Amino acid sequence: MPVLKQSPYLLYSDGKGNIYEDTTLYATGRSGWDALPVPYAEWIVLPEGGSLYELPGRKGIGIDVNTGEMRLCEKGWAVAAFIPPAYTGLFLAPYETGPNAPTLPLFCYTAAGWLNEKFMVPAVRIEQDIRQESKGYISDTIQEGVSKFLQSYPHNRLVKHLAENCCLTYHCPAARNYFMGRWECPVPTSPACNANCIGCISFQPLDETIVSTQDRLTFKPSAEEITEFTVPHLQTAPYPIISFGQGCEGEPLLMWETIRQSILEIRKHTDRGSININTNGSKPDAVRALCEAGLNSIRVSTNSARKHIYEPYYRPNNYVFEDIVESLKVVRGYGGWASINYFVFPGMTDSVEEYEALRKLIRETDLTMIQWRNFNIDPDWYLGKIGVHDTGEIMGLKQLMELIREEFPTLKFGYFNPPAERITGNFEMDFAH
Ligand code: SF4
Repeated sequence: MPVLKQSPYLLYSDGKGNIYEDTTLYATGRSGWDALPVPYAEWIVLPEGGSLYELPGRKGIGIDVNTGEMRLCEKGWAVAAFIPPAYTGLFLAPYETGPNAPTLPLFCYTAAGWLNEKFMVPAVRIEQDIRQESKGYISDTIQEGVSKFLQSYPHNRLVKHLAENCCLTYHCPAARNYFMGRWECPVPTSPACNANCIGCISFQPLDETIVSTQDRLTFKPSAEEITEFTVPHLQTAPYPIISFGQGCEGEPLLMWETIRQSILEIRKHTDRGSININTNGSKPDAVRALCEAGLNSIRVSTNSARKHIYEPYYRPNNYVFEDIVESLKVVRGYGGWASINYFVFPGMTDSVEEYEALRKLIRETDLTMIQWRNFNIDPDWYLGKIGVHDTGEIMGLKQLMELIREEFPTLKFGYFNPPAERITGNFEMDFAH
């Protein structure tokens, strides 16, 4: 897309779900606590699968097209975009929050604007893999898969959970791919967690101002239940991955013995595909035991490469930031693929202090990949909860990515866990719907 010759116009809503452009104001972007002009080159058309949110009790901040002054839009509520997987947002939606504004639910709030009859967002496509593109999900095929697998595994509580909750209720992209017999299959295992993340998507305390986006698993699956449906998936699916650690559970490393037993059993039947764990990385010894058993890759989630930003958010029980660093090192020590699930927050992620910490983390762990994920959280609520009033000097997310790419040319950028073909290096991106 050619670089814009002007900024898009600001969007506002009437509070009834109708969205309008305000042609007296150019759209801006938020970084940390500040509203800033967005470079023309960083705007793209809102990708398919994206959606727009009206933000109750908030007024958008724009630049007056005549005076060039920054001011509030008094015409209605602010608007933000939820951008689809595989894209990383470069600026948050800028607004002034009113006194009685409710806390926003656990979604990402990227800046948005309107130009040339199109909704625009400041974002980059960080991943070419198409596995979670909305146009690839065919509901009839998914429904057939659900019926077929429920019949094939009538006593399997995990397949029942994946079908009824994950696929048909939460519309989880990974679960829908499983029931379409392709790519990454989710394997939740843990009803408990040893962290207390402020923005946990599977558990929120009753006295909190928001609710979790999905309910946490309520049972501990057995190794037999796990092996029963994952072996056929690894044997038959294109680019197969099975991934422990999903949004509908606590921390999988608390179930490491069952996972270890499962990996050993699975590898008796097939050496095809990749076995991955998405985790908070809290237990390096358990990670070592899983690597011994045959784990191929790990993805450790983090909101920051800085201990004093990580721990106020994760509020860990009996582990510390250094443990997650150690878990990444352990997997690299076994020659495995180690990613961070990096919660991107404009103004925090691209601060100079974070950049220095990220460089140190990449070097120290010999990291394989950064998955640049949009942070699904109310920006004011997050910064308030971790006590950040000033995010410090920033460099811009695009520049941060360029500097990291330059310094670490073999480090992969993306959004999804790699199939075995990518881990072993003979991989052409020829995914097709
Ligand atoms: S590590 Fe995961 S499950 Fe545990 S509190 Fe954090 S988000 Fe929730």
